[in-house]
Amino acid sequence: MANICPITNVADLVSEARRVYRETFHGDDANVAVCAPGRVNLIGEHTDYNEGFVLPMALPMVTVIVGSKTSGQKCCVVTLTEAADEPRMVDFDLPNELTPLLRGQPNWANYVKGVVQHYRARPIPGFRAVIASSVPLGGGLSSSASLEVAVYTFLQQLCPDDGDQVAKAVACQQAEHTHAAVPCGIMDQFVSVLGKEGHALLIDCRSLEATAVPLADPGLVILITNSNVRHSLTGSEYPTRRKQCEEAAAVLNKKSLREATLQDLEAAKDRLEGVTYRRARHVIEEIERTAQAAEALKRGDYKEFGRLMVESHNSLRDNYEVSCPELDELVAAALEVDGVFGSRMTGGGFGGCTVTLLQAHATERAVKHIQEKYHGSPTFFITTPSAGAHALSLWF
Ligand code: ADP
Ligand code: MG
Repeated sequence: MANICPITNVADLVSEARRVYRETFHGDDANVAVCAPGRVNLIGEHTDYNEGFVLPMALPMVTVIVGSKTSGQKCCVVTLTEAADEPRMVDFDLPNELTPLLRGQPNWANYVKGVVQHYRARPIPGFRAVIASSVPLGGGLSSSASLEVAVYTFLQQLCPDDGDQVAKAVACQQAEHTHAAVPCGIMDQFVSVLGKEGHALLIDCRSLEATAVPLADPGLVILITNSNVRHSLTGSEYPTRRKQCEEAAAVLNKKSLREATLQDLEAAKDRLEGVTYRRARHVIEEIERTAQAAEALKRGDYKEFGRLMVESHNSLRDNYEVSCPELDELVAAALEVDGVFGSRMTGGGFGGCTVTLLQAHATERAVKHIQEKYHGSPTFFITTPSAGAHALSLWF
């Protein structure tokens, strides 16, 4: 269908990475291959770091790593993806107790180093690796978590850990905190590790328990629209939102906003600044909305699910103030199309993507309409809920 981006399949990513591996490392072949998916969040935005619910699914877009262990203490990693004009190859020594792996240049390699540093088993052997990815970078589909989880899964092949999946997600989250300086919640890494084909994942970010919710209806399409804009606010506003939520929780005398009700919030309204009140209001309502949306999905009530998606978007725009004109325009255009159940911004905000739930037969019409109405140049992906990270066979 016109204008819809094809998604490179995993086998093609692996063979390209293997070819570059052979070329770079003098004809040696890689003997390990792994992949880890990006994700799209269907609902539950900015709730993970408030210990609330999120409802993401793993994407068919993945980060692949091929490689082999070596006998020394050196790691050499190549990425095939253009990342901000940085060099595509990096060398570093394995960390030890006296010399941890620190942040450095190129920037993209910090995601790799962070995971090596936080990996949960030792001794990690030296290795060579090539990274190939079909997740758009910086588009809000979590290329960063897919890279971290791919690196972790790769290390599991070289030096097995205890196989604890939740601890794996937490280690990858730690890597993003310490080595990318992004104080992210657990959602992205969690769903990249534990995503399940044909299912969305309702994650309780307080207990770190997840419920798989079936989402494999041939009559339904999950359309992602990349606005292809990313405003520079992204980096600075995220920590500010986190702080505002912590402030609100402190005023309400709660450990996190997960513990607070709307009644608590209203009772404390006089003691909260207007902005802080609105931030907390979004989070408290969004946590409830996400629980309701998961119930609607279980019933196959897409209409209700779509209504909640739109409420979520409006709250992110008006109360949390993380949307932008481009995302608002994409959502408004999608909602004008017959057969669309709902649409909302997805990810941190200030650019990136929207996610739209619609009847399959309306897809072409929706893409055409959004393209006509949007003032920028959007990219479309039709996605299906996919599996979490896993090792791949090299026998093809
Ligand atoms: P998102 O996670 O939404 O895609 P982020 O800004 O959190 O956006 O992460 C994007 C960054 O992750 C890139 O700028 C780059 O540094 C790194 N990255 C992700 N995937 C790759 C890859 N395949 N190769 C190199 N770097 C990558
Ligand atoms: Mg990211």
